[in-house]
Amino acid sequence: ESVPRLREVPRLPPDTTRESFDRAIVELRDSLGAENVVLNDKPLEDGWYIEHPNTHDAFHIVDQEELVCSAVVYPESTAEVQSIVKWANKHMIPIYPISMGRNVGYGGSAPRVPGSVVIDLGKRMNKILKIDAENASCVVEPGVSYFALYEEIQRRKLPLWIDTPDLGGGSVLGNATDRGVGYTPYGDHFANHCGMEVVLPNGELLRTGMGAMPGKNGADNPTWQSFQPAYGPYSDGIFSQSNFGIVCQMGFWLMPETGHQSYMITFPHDNDFANIVEIIRPLAQQRILGNIPQLRHVIQELSVTGLPKSHWFPGPGRVPRDVVRKHASSLPCGDCAWVFYGTQYGDPASIKTQLDMIKSAFSKIHGSRFFLPSDLPPDHYIHSRAAVCSGVPVLRELDWLNWVPNAAHLFFSPITPTRGEDAKIVHDINVRLHKKYGFDLFPTLCVAGREMHYIANIIYDRSSQDEKRRATALMRDLITEAAKEGYGEYRTHLLFADQVAGTYNWNNNALMRFNETLKDALDPNGILAPGRNGIWPKNFRGKGWQL
Ligand code: ADP
Repeated sequence: ESVPRLREVPRLPPDTTRESFDRAIVELRDSLGAENVVLNDKPLEDGWYIEHPNTHDAFHIVDQEELVCSAVVYPESTAEVQSIVKWANKHMIPIYPISMGRNVGYGGSAPRVPGSVVIDLGKRMNKILKIDAENASCVVEPGVSYFALYEEIQRRKLPLWIDTPDLGGGSVLGNATDRGVGYTPYGDHFANHCGMEVVLPNGELLRTGMGAMPGKNGADNPTWQSFQPAYGPYSDGIFSQSNFGIVCQMGFWLMPETGHQSYMITFPHDNDFANIVEIIRPLAQQRILGNIPQLRHVIQELSVTGLPKSHWFPGPGRVPRDVVRKHASSLPCGDCAWVFYGTQYGDPASIKTQLDMIKSAFSKIHGSRFFLPSDLPPDHYIHSRAAVCSGVPVLRELDWLNWVPNAAHLFFSPITPTRGEDAKIVHDINVRLHKKYGFDLFPTLCVAGREMHYIANIIYDRSSQDEKRRATALMRDLITEAAKEGYGEYRTHLLFADQVAGTYNWNNNALMRFNETLKDALDPNGILAPGRNGIWPKNFRGKGWQL
């Protein structure tokens, strides 16, 4: 894994000479302390989820040395973040903020522009600033992970839940900033944040929402974590999936704990898919489905055991459908095609009523079978789902990475209306293109209500140039083909940001022109995360940076 660097180190920011870079670094070290400014000049280590690098994208899809920073800086406070931003403006060096860098499958901690200085906020700015038990909310810094927040709430014995994504090691603030999702009723992380403190690209400090109004005698505003929009344009949105600011504090709502019951439903046929979605829609719209349930293809019942592909199928290439079928027959799910994981909330009587409605709705699909966790063995995946769906962070989803040697993954994440016809178009594109490029298709549909996040996890061997090339080509084709039908991604890996942003081009790219107008006004020197989400500042535009 750790191989000598082939290119000159550290990789310099664009249009920067070694002398001016060295001088700028000396200045930064003088202001922050030498130990808090670390050059990226050692061999690159991909590490693993817990010991992940902040030097490059550990799940590289191009050359490992391509998406690298020149240095990493560790601020201790918002004031230090402001001074780093001023330093970047003075030296015209691009900076790239990360919270914890566990944005796996979307670029990790890598900057879009090689040679940028990564601001690793999480290492030293990792305080839970406030937990308000009465308001059921909290305020956190970038370095607070789901595990840390969960543990603190347990330690204080508060009857509150957090909402965690599949893996609990990431940053609560970072994930919400990138509009990630979890699985309790508070699964839309951005929708459940309330208030931000942001350092703007010129170094100025801004509070959004009610935070814009000072509290009595200089205190934080008492309504900051209670009311999201406050007065005037709702500005928080522009700081998510963008490069308009560095979020240094963020408020979140916490869910009052409640009873919960997870379950699994299996469906026998591949072509039940559209019908399952048709049954899901009214259940989701009426909010009978209690959380963000997942519909998965049965091949994932094999992969979530943590056993490698070679255990199930020794051959090269994709696991054939009949082989999946044969193995599924010997697993608790049986010979089925689709598996639905849901959770209902409330007191036992209301959970029973909800489950009766859900069972009766899905029973219209011939051969569907209903399971409770108590029907399934203790090592079954459902127990990990039940934890996540009741706000308990886990790491079980790392088992994905056993599928192939040196596994890395990419997510293709289009949004589809919760309607059989639409979901089938998106699914068919995935089936066809995964086959074309020789990858197993692992679709998980996260049902949010009127839409579903269709997440295809593309797992590849990062030691194989051929697999990287095919995975990249697959992503490019998926984005293009889905866009032709009108389906777009909610999030993507750094290297596909330009392509995805380019699909949102209604009315001669009105949206991107709007984003560029904001970018140029807020960040005239173009120093903050150039290219993130396809937004390039004017000093980078038209110079061949777009991919
Ligand atoms: P995680 O927080 O899940 O560990 P990251 O820290 O990598 O993942 O955050 C995901 C992405 O969101 C980053 O690559 C960065 O572009 C953006 N981001 C994260 N934290 C901030 C922040 N505090 N301010 C601005 N952008 C951020």
